[in-house]
Amino acid sequence: MNDAGLRRGLLSWYRRAKRDLPWRRDPTPYRVWVSEIMLQQTTVAAVTPKYEAFLRRFPTVASLASSREDEVLKHWAGLGYYSRARNLRRAALAVVAGHGGRFPSELAPVLALPGVGRYTAGAILSIAFQKPFPLVDGNVIRVFSRLFGLKGRAKDPAFAARMWPLAERLVPKTGPGDWNQALMELGATVCTPDSPSCGACPVTAHCAAFAKGLQDRLPLPEPARAPVPVAWTCLWIERGGKVLLWRRSDKERLLKNLWGLPMAGSVAATPGRLLAKASHSITFHALAVELREAAFEGAPPPEAKWVPRGKIGDYLVSSLWLKLLKGR
Ligand code: SF4
Repeated sequence: MNDAGLRRGLLSWYRRAKRDLPWRRDPTPYRVWVSEIMLQQTTVAAVTPKYEAFLRRFPTVASLASSREDEVLKHWAGLGYYSRARNLRRAALAVVAGHGGRFPSELAPVLALPGVGRYTAGAILSIAFQKPFPLVDGNVIRVFSRLFGLKGRAKDPAFAARMWPLAERLVPKTGPGDWNQALMELGATVCTPDSPSCGACPVTAHCAAFAKGLQDRLPLPEPARAPVPVAWTCLWIERGGKVLLWRRSDKERLLKNLWGLPMAGSVAATPGRLLAKASHSITFHALAVELREAAFEGAPPPEAKWVPRGKIGDYLVSSLWLKLLKGR
């Protein structure tokens, strides 16, 4: 592999063809960090509008650190994987308490922040601080698998581990942030999972898979995972213009620690008339959710509270509730 030629070809393409994304316009450590956390397991199209609104509400690490968790979760609504938002706030508190509000620029303190792993640390250090740290994500695994002709499954941790030495070898001392973003950009827009656009690829001449006609067969396909069906009956309990909401515990399999509607069996109320149904996917779970009217007498237990009907959107952040309560 001609590393210098590969770098030249990919970087000049990236500078010409990169997408204009909001976090690329002013890549401060805070802006890069927020974008990288949001982009974990979420698409660019879904993140872009949420990112801009989030940055308007929490423009600095100090503003995020001084906010209530519920407020941060509300601005994360619809992005899913809510532990990311909690970790983001906890990490902001750590930056304020331990680093005087300035984002650390060394590997060890960045890795010590909640929710920051090797990939995110590499992204922040290379893009915001221009330090030559590598990164490996799903796009990079796929691109390397094809460029170097490596056989393995992208989601296999042992296969992913083989990519780090390659990423370290290739990351340049000058412009490491552009290099890392160029690799990911190639994976996102050209070297895509299905039918890579090799005709439009700037590094075809360096690609082992292309030379052998294996570009559609690398990396190896993942075994299909059957969705796990989950059936929920949720209760709509309304009294005097207020709705009873329920804080889900950290023992729940899904949507843990988030506000939701009470589930049948969680409060002493019998499910009655069917009001709505919704289907929703969370990771590999396929939820079939029913909403039923119910009456409840007495004081709510500690994990529940009455919320004015017009305010429930501040609490119910998962898009499941938006689907289920549409029109209510
Ligand atoms: Fe990917 Fe095709 Fe480019 Fe190889 S030539 S890196 S398979 S897009």
